[in-house]
Amino acid sequence: MPIDPTLAYDDDNIFAKILRGEIPSTRVYEDEWAYAFEDINPQAEVHTLVIPKGRYVSWDDFSARAEAEEIAGFVRAVGKVARDKGLVETGYRMMANIGAHGGQEVAHLHVHLFGGEPLGPMIARR
Ligand code: 5GP
Repeated sequence: MPIDPTLAYDDDNIFAKILRGEIPSTRVYEDEWAYAFEDINPQAEVHTLVIPKGRYVSWDDFSARAEAEEIAGFVRAVGKVARDKGLVETGYRMMANIGAHGGQEVAHLHVHLFGGEPLGPMIARR
């Protein structure tokens, strides 16, 4: 079920538990601002998730409330993960689902990085 991104942050969401180490994940990268790990149900050869360490429900929440330092740190981490995964040479896709129409299911901001193969059309054709 898609989440309602206008709701307050819930510390019991699954990515909050991953950040606290209460649920295992395959770590790809971590720094002061971000944590990256492999998606449990990959939709492409490479499917990595990058999340901010701060408590943000969605891209909307993050872009409105995060400090400039956090935004810079997170954006740089997304770029670094893509470079470290070798995605830049062949190209890749990044995506953040927001709310019902976006199909967001986990209420902690996450950027999907897809790559490792041609990814097809940007969204499902109508
Ligand atoms: P959304 O639809 O919210 O943009 O994407 C949520 C993503 O989180 C999905 O791609 C799903 O496979 C992934 N996911 C959900 N639960 C877990 C989990 O416990 N561990 C990991 N690694 N990924 C998860």
